[in-house]
Amino acid sequence: MTQQYVLITGASRGIGKSTALCFARKGYHVFINCAASIDKLREVKNLIDENGTGSCTLVPGNVGNPEDVRSIFQRIYQHCKHLDVLINNAGIAHMGLLMDMKDDEWTQIIQTNLSSVFYCCREAVPPMISKKAGRIINISSMWGIYGASCEAAYSASKAGINGLTKALAKELAPSNIQVNAIAFGVIDTEMNGQLNKEEHIALEDEIPMGRFGSAEEAAEMIWNMAHAPGYMTGQIVGMDGGFF
Ligand code: NDP
Repeated sequence: MTQQYVLITGASRGIGKSTALCFARKGYHVFINCAASIDKLREVKNLIDENGTGSCTLVPGNVGNPEDVRSIFQRIYQHCKHLDVLINNAGIAHMGLLMDMKDDEWTQIIQTNLSSVFYCCREAVPPMISKKAGRIINISSMWGIYGASCEAAYSASKAGINGLTKALAKELAPSNIQVNAIAFGVIDTEMNGQLNKEEHIALEDEIPMGRFGSAEEAAEMIWNMAHAPGYMTGQIVGMDGGFF
C-alpha cells in the first residue's frame, strides 16, 4: 500500500495526541506538531515508535506564526511530496468577560485558533491540487455555532473556522479535495482542566449523554471523517453527546 501522510497540529496532548496515535496505528506516517511542550511531543513519537505500525516526524512550531508554518511545511516536504490529510487541531481557550479582554489576548486566540488554519491550508493545498486529492479537517467547537458566554473570542475563532471550511470546500471541490470541520462538544482534555469538581459535574448534568466525550472518541470521529466518502465536503459535523 502507498504510504499515507498526515499532519496533526497540536498533537502533544488531548485530541491531537489521540488522533496521532490512531492514524499511526493504522499505518500512516504522522507529522506531529505543538509549540511549547516538545518533551510531550517526543513522548507521543516514542509511543508511535514502540507500537511499530506507523511512523512519525516531529515538526514543532507555533502554527499561529506564518514563518513557523512555512518552515514546518519545508520540513514536511523533505519527507513527502504532499499530505494526504491535514488536521488543523491546535487551539487555545480563554475565559473571561469581553470587556476585560486585552488586545494581545484577542490576537493570540485568533492567531492560534483561526489564522493557523489559513497558514496551514495555504501551504498544504498546492501539492494537493497537483495530485487532485487531499482531505482537510478543521477542529471546531459547538461554541462556534451557538456561542459561549465569557468565551467570545474563542467562539468567534471557531465560527471563523466554520466559514473558512465552507468557503474553501467550494474552492477546492473541483480539485477533488474535501474540506470539513468537526464541532466538538465538551471533550475530557486539559483544555477543560480549569473546571473545579462542582463545575465539572454541573456541566456533565447538562449533557444528555451524562459525561464528557473522550479524546479517543474524538480521534475516532476525525479518522472517520478523513475516510468518509469523497462526496462529503463543506460540512460542519457536530459531536457533542446530544448537547445541542
Ligand atoms: P489541549 O489543550 O489538550 O491541547 C491543545 C494542543 O494545541 C496542544 O498540543 C498544544 O501544545 C497545541 N497548541 C496550542 N497552541 C499552539 C500553537 N500556537 N502552535 C502549535 N500548537 C499549539 O486541547 P484539546 O485537545 O482539548 O483541543 C484540541 C482542539 O479541539 C482545539 O482546537 C480545541 O479548541 C478543540 N476543541 C476542544 C474541546 C474540548 O472540550 N476539549 C471542545 C471543542 C473543540 P503546546 O501547548 O505545547 O503548544
